[in-house]
Amino acid sequence: MWTVGEEQEFRDDLIDAVIAHANSSDGMLSRNELGNFSYAGKDIRVIDVQGGIWNPGASWPFGDPLRATLSINTTLSGKYDDQEMHGGLWRYDYQSGSTEGKNSKMRKALELQLPLLWFRQQSAGSYVPYKVFIISDFPKERYCLIAPDLSLAVAAQSESAIERKYAERLMRQRLHQPAFRAQVISAYETKCAICALAHGSLLDAAHITPDREEASSTSVTNGLSLCKIHHTAYDINIVGIDPDYKVHIRDDILQEVDGPMLEHGIKEMNMRSLWIPPAKSKQPDRERLAERFAVFHNQ
Ligand SMILES: [Zn+2]
Repeated sequence: MWTVGEEQEFRDDLIDAVIAHANSSDGMLSRNELGNFSYAGKDIRVIDVQGGIWNPGASWPFGDPLRATLSINTTLSGKYDDQEMHGGLWRYDYQSGSTEGKNSKMRKALELQLPLLWFRQQSAGSYVPYKVFIISDFPKERYCLIAPDLSLAVAAQSESAIERKYAERLMRQRLHQPAFRAQVISAYETKCAICALAHGSLLDAAHITPDREEASSTSVTNGLSLCKIHHTAYDINIVGIDPDYKVHIRDDILQEVDGPMLEHGIKEMNMRSLWIPPAKSKQPDRERLAERFAVFHNQ
């Protein structure tokens, strides 16, 4: 029988593999892929066939059955009342019927502090995976609370208002970022808007109005799909994007002479047109771009 520590290691590794696989494309996985996920040479089911709570049973091909629920999922039109609660925590409702049965293995995850996968549906049939912990349970009210990190969840209950606010902010970010990434990267068809690089693992969803600012938003229109080089270059104002979707490279960089990355990867992008999603509702917000471009221009 696996020790709890061994099970935890196994879960950490499997969860990381699922998230890495999602991020090698647009950050989303279909229910089909999750029913047949290739891990350690085996094809395994990591999501329940139809319901929300997946407790692998007798057909589980790895050693002993898992002590606790492996995954939960939230659908867009679910009948359960899954919703964000105060403080960056998420409410996950019990499955109907007895508070025991399937639900009891969720309590096991709480008791043993074991991580589990949470699949949040983004669009028909597509789910964004998260690693989460169950941090409290309300059997009478028939729900539990989930969080992306145990120590942040503890800090979110702190007596110190500063500590509490900080933890809540980080948790909220951890919950919103993967969904934001999935929406942005899929809108841009898994390509960098500047150079068209099409490797999901090398793409980020950049914010136009930075995340730290009050006016920021998790709408896809505040996002740009950028490769990691162009994301960093945009964040530190080596690259600017004007409201007419033209790319600008900072003057001093254009004067610099260096290897092929600078020449082709950066300098050649000057005055190129940004590639934007065909759907108007997903195109970058021109006002946000203008505000951000002013910072680039005035530096
Ligand atoms: Zn790029």
